[in-house]
Amino acid sequence: MNTADLRTAALAAAERGWRVFPLLPGRKQPAVHGANSCLGTGPCATGHKGWEQRATTDPERITRAWSHKPYNIGIATGPSGLLVVDLDTAQPDEQPPDEWRQAGVRDGHDVYAAAATNEAGFYADLVWDTHTVVTPSGGTHLYYAAPTDVRLRSTAGTALGWKVDTRGPGGYVVAAGSVIDGRRYETTADRDPRPLPAWLVEKLKPGLPPAPAQPIAPTTGTHGSYLDAAVRAEVSRVHTAPEGQRNYSLYCAAVALGQLVAGGAPSEHDVRGELARAAGRHVAVGAYSEAQAHKTITSGLRAGAKRPRQVAA
Ligand SMILES: [Zn+2]
Repeated sequence: MNTADLRTAALAAAERGWRVFPLLPGRKQPAVHGANSCLGTGPCATGHKGWEQRATTDPERITRAWSHKPYNIGIATGPSGLLVVDLDTAQPDEQPPDEWRQAGVRDGHDVYAAAATNEAGFYADLVWDTHTVVTPSGGTHLYYAAPTDVRLRSTAGTALGWKVDTRGPGGYVVAAGSVIDGRRYETTADRDPRPLPAWLVEKLKPGLPPAPAQPIAPTTGTHGSYLDAAVRAEVSRVHTAPEGQRNYSLYCAAVALGQLVAGGAPSEHDVRGELARAAGRHVAVGAYSEAQAHKTITSGLRAGAKRPRQVAA
């Protein structure tokens, strides 16, 4: 990645109205000096200006800043009107906290899916349908338009749940086009940010810190090492779901099995059949309609298909 490419990426972000500032080449840290080392000259002649104040959409200033060095690109989320949800992956040697591990959760994507489904219900998969950037470490940045009528808390470093962070006022994200260890931040869904989901607005309003996302109920089935056992466990999760969590459990089971379908086995046809049969019990007692069950299964399978996995034999 050379200086010209980074300049183009910085200008593209600014064209969307996002305020950018330079990060150190190949790194995530701001390239502008901190308050402690301020000399009171240049842009700081009338007082120190940090990266948030210096972040700009002005093409001339951007072109000048990105003319000599391959600076990475920071987007100051607050003044850009953005709230970015940052979903991280676990390190290879890192285990989820117990309650999440029992629920089959493996990374920030799963925690966010669980939180969104808990809070928003059936249409939780819609939260993925926004401007998306994937980081070199496999993390995901979901860009949302922050509400203009409420100032959200500064949430940098405040975890919503395990491996889930948010960047709003006082925070920044490393933008697409930036390079760390020779690998690029890539835009994977180039669309306008959707409005921040209402349940997240509620969580991020000034006041109490957000309640961490709750794990889903542990399954009572045994997670065997073979495919059949995996399917049985998910079907059992649906069967044994307590009242109030039946639709949610069906969704989670469909996500888990959707990942296996995308990984090559079992077939989607088989999985749909198993899930619909298991859901039938709850349809019979009016927990949800058959049409709702199919809709939930479809959304779960679709969400799961984004992250294929295979069961180790
Ligand atoms: Zn200064």
